[in-house]
Amino acid sequence: MNKMASQDKFVAMVTAKAEVELPLSSFEPRSMLKTAVHEVRHPAVPAIDYHNHLDAQDPLAVLRIMDECGIERIVSITMQVGQAALDIIQKFHQTAPNRFSTIAWMDWQDVLQPGFFERSVDQLERLVEQGACGIKLWKDLGLTLRGADGKLLRVDDERLAPLFEKAAELGIPVMFHTADPDAFFVPIDRFNERYEELAAHPDWSFYGSEYSKEELLDQRELVFARHPRTTFVAAHVAERAENLAYVGRLLDAHANLFVDIGARTAELGRQPYTARDFLIRYASRILFGTDLVPDVQMYRLHFRFLETADEYFEYPSHASRQGRWNIYGVHLPQDVLRQIYRDNALRLLPH
Ligand SMILES: [Zn+2]
Repeated sequence: MNKMASQDKFVAMVTAKAEVELPLSSFEPRSMLKTAVHEVRHPAVPAIDYHNHLDAQDPLAVLRIMDECGIERIVSITMQVGQAALDIIQKFHQTAPNRFSTIAWMDWQDVLQPGFFERSVDQLERLVEQGACGIKLWKDLGLTLRGADGKLLRVDDERLAPLFEKAAELGIPVMFHTADPDAFFVPIDRFNERYEELAAHPDWSFYGSEYSKEELLDQRELVFARHPRTTFVAAHVAERAENLAYVGRLLDAHANLFVDIGARTAELGRQPYTARDFLIRYASRILFGTDLVPDVQMYRLHFRFLETADEYFEYPSHASRQGRWNIYGVHLPQDVLRQIYRDNALRLLPH
């Protein structure tokens, strides 16, 4: 900088910077924005929460919350397996068969024992007989689960093919939660946009995983392609809410695929123009889901996101948050809301 510039008040002003020492977790800026706030107490149509986990919840307490904020049904993905899973299905079914459905959890417990893949097909049949309305395969497939040979099991392991074909025969969808947000595959450092979340859950980081996120999503896509008769649900906006162009291509390529929006309001709501276009364009393939403990305010924040044009508000989240940003409502049209809240889920539930 020349001497004249270094003494100039304007230059001094625009170049001033402070080295700040304030713990990130103590930094809680309060927005001074004054914009419209619309509380949406009930969704535009009775909603089906297609992605939740109710194992630890009291069905009657959950029903009260559902009644208060217009949730017609919750599809609970049990994380129990074996007899415990059957007991959970029973418990919720007995309380209110029209309000609760259960998706079963893939049981890998004896994956090392011979005959595992054949047995899992029989198990699926039994679970569906007992009322399960789907089966979920979690991210441990491809990231941590190992077979008898000590190698990681691939998402597109051909030995799983009979299971996916059986699901088609039984008329139930297969839900995949494969990989995780992009930020979970890069170092936990000052450049990581989910730093606080990963600091609270270091085990959620898959930085340095054996299969890259791209490889995992490619393996999953191969499964969608190989089983066109099977309906698949790719949870959490197909684990690529950061890149809706990718999810659009995936939905274009595979007519047997749905996605849920569980735990991705933060991602969708920070790109409201792109998200709105995406949600409208693929309205017949998107499922409302929350993946958060049932709570009236949690549901109402989702309604506010989907139904209003409110700006810059807090997204629904678990305690460690997902990233330091706020969201914008996508004010979806009625016919789109009807499909996302309810109609698409009805297509996947047994009639
Ligand atoms: Zn979940």
